[in-house]
Amino acid sequence: MITEQFLNSIKRKLSNEKIRINPNELKLYANDGLQLHEAVPGCVILPDSTEEIAWIVKQCIKYKIPFVPRGAGTGLSGGSVISDGVIIQLSRLNKILEIDIPNRCAIVQPGVVNAYLTQEVKSQGYHFAPDPSSQIASTIGGNVAENAGGPHTLKHGVTVNHVLGQTIVLPNGKITKIGGKHRYSAELDLNSLFTGSEGTLGIISEIIVNLSKDPLSTRTLLLIFDKISNATDLVTEILLAGVIPSALEMIDQLCIQAVENHLKIGFPKNASAILIIELDGEIENVNWELEQIKHISKKYVSEKIIEATSEKDRQNLWRGRKHAAGAIGNISPAFYTNDGVVPRDKLTPILEFIQFVSRKYEMKIANLCHAGDGNIHPLILYNPKDKKEIKKAFDCSTEILLKCIEYGGVLTGEHGIGIEKIHLMEKMFGKQEIELQRKIKHGFDKNNLLNPGKLIPDKMGCGELNIFNKQFSS
Ligand SMILES: Cc1cc2nc3c(=O)[nH]c(=O)nc-3n(C[C@H](O)[C@H](O)[C@H](O)COP(=O)(O)OP(=O)(O)OC[C@H]3O[C@@H](n4cnc5c(N)ncnc54)[C@H](O)[C@@H]3O)c2cc1C
Repeated sequence: MITEQFLNSIKRKLSNEKIRINPNELKLYANDGLQLHEAVPGCVILPDSTEEIAWIVKQCIKYKIPFVPRGAGTGLSGGSVISDGVIIQLSRLNKILEIDIPNRCAIVQPGVVNAYLTQEVKSQGYHFAPDPSSQIASTIGGNVAENAGGPHTLKHGVTVNHVLGQTIVLPNGKITKIGGKHRYSAELDLNSLFTGSEGTLGIISEIIVNLSKDPLSTRTLLLIFDKISNATDLVTEILLAGVIPSALEMIDQLCIQAVENHLKIGFPKNASAILIIELDGEIENVNWELEQIKHISKKYVSEKIIEATSEKDRQNLWRGRKHAAGAIGNISPAFYTNDGVVPRDKLTPILEFIQFVSRKYEMKIANLCHAGDGNIHPLILYNPKDKKEIKKAFDCSTEILLKCIEYGGVLTGEHGIGIEKIHLMEKMFGKQEIELQRKIKHGFDKNNLLNPGKLIPDKMGCGELNIFNKQFSS
């Protein structure tokens, strides 16, 4: 799809260091975090300004070449890969442009790594609240595009709750600005439309984000259970009691063991599940919440509640949680995960269903959950060299996601639809809703060149979907 004319035009305008066409280098961009899908781009371009992005987009339109924006490539739904098209790699746009403490906001370029922003404002008592577990690698542009969540979403919201404004290069190459340094705007809520649109409606080239004040008090607890259902039932009771922890995370036995073998955090290896609960806010409120939890949990926990006694202790617990998926790499050569969501009272049934699927397919499945949000992460262990196992992993995930829909949940809480779950969109939405989404996409992208074949099932797509589904679905 990449033509000589296109490349000549790019080379005339941009320096060599901004263009990648060497086949070995292109292979590095063939995956994101969704290892099951591979598609080698025809060219990777690394712009360093909004104007340069806009110019590249106009060239792609002129030569009818599909293009996709890419941040750190940690996405788990195949959103930033494209076969033969152009990847617009945003890592050179990595500057924090302004920190405005009086207005509690910052202006950043999309390639800024999530954790760097908090590091930058920490000494002034602020942080950037969205904290995906990938925050030491994933970019704020990617977080906005996926509307990323994380352990602290339960109380502090997802990324869209912290985005005030955006500069966007539209799929026709024009530049537009939405929102501003204030929460309110007179326009249609375009901020929400673009946030979570998975790089299908425009390329975000600047973001105004909200900065949050650090809480006065933070208490972090470890609760231990000899039955998974005791952990999941307790989650519902805590929230019913009016306690909103900032984080309410569940880890099951297989995951605990992987973490312990690898990181030696001090998680109890024989427990069926643990909950990490974090409370934050005013000292008195936090103390009250802690008392409630101690009281309610008595009939559920199998051992005394452990509390982090120092910031080092607290960071250690979070290290165990945030590296849990990575630790699975020590017990299996590969794993495949999804991020289905169920109403909270269906957490126990969905985890039982996952055990059923595990037995049915004879596949090991470990579990991490943002339990307070009903957001599951079954980690399906498979051997990437065994084609049958790859298919089984994909089928296990599909069955679990269909059950989430049946329970009144949704296909994704964090990772997006991308290419991975697009085959299930019509199970989740009726024809009318799909058509509405197609019309919105078409309204922005008449040529269907921006990240085609992702998120919205489009019979006119570029074929990514067909390749993916032919490979794996039954
Ligand atoms: C170990 C691990 C843990 C994770 N934990 C979490 C978690 O807790 N919560 C969570 O939500 N996700 C999580 N993820 C998934 C992933 O990290 C997030 O989706 C993240 O937001 C992706 O950011 P990225 O910079 O890597 O984006 P990429 O993977 O590069 O891109 C993701 C999508 O965003 C689009 N995009 C990227 N930049 C832009 C831009 N500037 N403008 C428009 N579109 C753009 C791409 O086209 C693509 O569709 C995890 C992933 C891993 C590997």
